[in-house]
Amino acid sequence: MEFIMSTVQRIMNLVHTLGFWDYLDILIIACLIYRLILFVNKTNASRLMKGVFVFVLVLWISSGRMQALNFLLEHVVNWAVVGILVLFQPEIRRVLEQVGSSRLPFLQIFSKPQVDRQTIERAISQTVSACGDMSKSRTGALIVFERNNQLDDILRSGTKLDAEVSSELLKNIFFVKAPMHDGAVIVREGRVLGAGCMLPLSRNVNLSRDLGMRHRAGIGMSENSDAVVVLVSEETGSISVAVGGMLKRHLMTETLEQLLRNELLPHTEEDGDDRKRKSLKGLLAKKNGGKADA
Ligand code: ATP
Ligand code: MG
Repeated sequence: MEFIMSTVQRIMNLVHTLGFWDYLDILIIACLIYRLILFVNKTNASRLMKGVFVFVLVLWISSGRMQALNFLLEHVVNWAVVGILVLFQPEIRRVLEQVGSSRLPFLQIFSKPQVDRQTIERAISQTVSACGDMSKSRTGALIVFERNNQLDDILRSGTKLDAEVSSELLKNIFFVKAPMHDGAVIVREGRVLGAGCMLPLSRNVNLSRDLGMRHRAGIGMSENSDAVVVLVSEETGSISVAVGGMLKRHLMTETLEQLLRNELLPHTEEDGDDRKRKSLKGLLAKKNGGKADA
């Protein structure tokens, strides 16, 4: 008991001596550690982390006991930083790109005012209507709704457009004989900004084998950004949505509408738990016992 009291006292004393820069320091380190844990969880880095742990353990045991092994391992450590940069080059690049393209909250005062709710609602209902029709006619479609991470790089790979989202426009773009039907449509703030865009393929090796390139590209886009991706399968007419690397397949148009409204419309106070339940994660948890299709 005395030990606990003295520890608490020491912590309190320490807290009193901390200044603004110390708090900022701690906050930044906490954020970095949190991002690192998320990164390790999301990528194959967890296996690498186990390898690093074994390496450090062997290094520690060999130090002062096994000279040759210790000498070798210490030299490996010197090159490890370069090795990590090379091994994780795609991931590091992606993280930096996301930081650079995020509309950070404190930078939002400099950005233009938020687009109005009605425009987004209209874009959603037009997309749902188009997907319903394309599902019936078995027309393949890939529609990316941009959120905070800007997709300028992806837009550059396709044909630039600037038009209000309408069911007719989407069906025209994806009509199989139309020149722009291959690739993805990018929607920003309720407007179609590009078509025929190339998306990054998913690097998830555990994806179901019946998912072809369109679905892998849709999932890949959602792994690489916070975008919401809507897919219609040319083979089966099935409608899917990918968010954060997860894919929910075989959606009815009503569910698609609910999901898009939840993910894309600005949050309001009343939404609360209802919004959580209707989000992609909520739907996956309800129907699959928490497991994603992909
Ligand atoms: P479907 O169920 O519609 O057949 P799928 O997942 O089986 O879809 P494929 O049959 O391989 O996928 O679909 C190929 C189409 O997917 C291409 O014609 C192209 O339009 C689109 N596609 C493939 N790769 C990409 C990519 N990297 N970015 C954007 N679109 C892509
Ligand atoms: Mg296919």
